[in-house]
Amino acid sequence: MEIIYQSTRNAGERATASEAILKGLASDGGLFVPTSLPAFTVPFTDMAKMDYRQVAYEVMKLFLTDFTEEELKHCIAKAYDSKFDTEEIAPLREANGTYYLELFHGATIAFKDMALSILPHLLTTAAKKNHAEEEIVILTATSGDTGKAALAGFADVPGTRIIVFYPKDGVSPIQEKQMVTQRGANTAVVGIRGNFDDAQNGVKAIFNNKELAEVMRGKGFRFSSANSINIGRLVPQIVYYVYAYTRLLTAGRIKDGERLNVVVPTGNFGNILAAYYAKCAGLPLGKLICASNDNKVLYDFFRTGTYDKNREFILTTSPSMDILISSNLERLIYKIAGDDAEKNADLMKKLSQEGVYDITPQMRERLADFYGGYATTGQTTAAIRALYEKTGYIIDTHTAVASSVYNTYKESSGDQAVTVIASTASPYKFTRSVMSAIDAKYDSMGDFELVDELAKLSGSKVPQAIEDIRSAEVLHKTVCDKDKMQETVERILGL
Ligand SMILES: *Cc1c(COP(=O)(O)O)cnc(C)c1O
Repeated sequence: MEIIYQSTRNAGERATASEAILKGLASDGGLFVPTSLPAFTVPFTDMAKMDYRQVAYEVMKLFLTDFTEEELKHCIAKAYDSKFDTEEIAPLREANGTYYLELFHGATIAFKDMALSILPHLLTTAAKKNHAEEEIVILTATSGDTGKAALAGFADVPGTRIIVFYPKDGVSPIQEKQMVTQRGANTAVVGIRGNFDDAQNGVKAIFNNKELAEVMRGKGFRFSSANSINIGRLVPQIVYYVYAYTRLLTAGRIKDGERLNVVVPTGNFGNILAAYYAKCAGLPLGKLICASNDNKVLYDFFRTGTYDKNREFILTTSPSMDILISSNLERLIYKIAGDDAEKNADLMKKLSQEGVYDITPQMRERLADFYGGYATTGQTTAAIRALYEKTGYIIDTHTAVASSVYNTYKESSGDQAVTVIASTASPYKFTRSVMSAIDAKYDSMGDFELVDELAKLSGSKVPQAIEDIRSAEVLHKTVCDKDKMQETVERILGL
């Protein structure tokens, strides 16, 4: 069955999978969504015998139907190789009766690697298929992890350039160091004086600037997006839910058809949306537990049916989730509106004009798969310490938000279903917050001292990504005001 994509804001704007990947965002500002969701055909008991790459092929081929088998297998082989420090790619780790799906074994030790190690290959393949001759310019706004993962994925990929914007004071010191030390002649990294939403809005405005697009074309460039709004990011994320399910089948922890809960620490709503798509395509998932930090827009949305971004933006210890506009939620809104682009477009217009919208009671009924929860910074800290003290397993701050929310959910619901928590970053990426959570005595130590302490405490090897930045030279020093992003792009590209 061929899967066609359309804009969430206009049923008339249609694209094949490769066109949607190439465009990133629909021309009306909407996101590309499949007009119908495929269904898994290979039994999960069969996929249980496959390795990560094979599962990835079985899942992705259902969504990216205009890629040939050869093209897709080539992209998968390029992505899920020795860049990952384990053959399993996404191993499950049991702690305190729950399974942590470790999505941080790639080049930049956060879950963004799961999709961003394959996106450059999907994108360059899509360009070839569609005879797009221009150089692809990836513009990305990052709350910390996307930026480095995208830089690592695109660095020195022929036919591409990448420009990353991050909030200068809104990422962890290690996140910043990882980005500003990035090598590759085609890379640029810019700090902005503003928060993540400012960065994201700035990038969207540049994308939607028709005049600029014209100038770009004249110079042989075209923009594309590596943000999680690109369908080429979303589809690879469906894979690891299927992978996790099938590993638990093999381990005898669940029976075929048994429902598995998933808990996802959420920011832009991409990761949990992938779980939802997996469920829609037939993966037996139970509750999709959406865990937020103090920026609990999504928690309030699931509780009240009102999405309201008019609130204080709070900097937390889980910066990759410090987001007030969860872009991918639009794909869910479109779905629960009954695949109604017009209705969705109305709500998104309200969001951009007033910062708030309400969904109808009928739409709310379609949210029954989801449970929204949140954890304060204090609860997040407590979750890290409690799990460490009980099991010796050390989780990062984002994963800890999910862990805390799950504990609250389990207590209040009594739901005993087997549960997987998406573990989205290595604790080495947020060493300071993690170590302080375990013991205040670490507060006075330097960043790399803490790295060594964490290695001792967890009995794990310091990841290569961290070793690499210990002594790396800072190569990117540009900082700009949030309203100067376009000028900065023009300067970098020499327009
Ligand atoms: C990006 C990120 C998240 C949020 O994922 P979304 O797909 O944006 O919801 C959570 N944790 C970490 C570590 C991340 O990098």
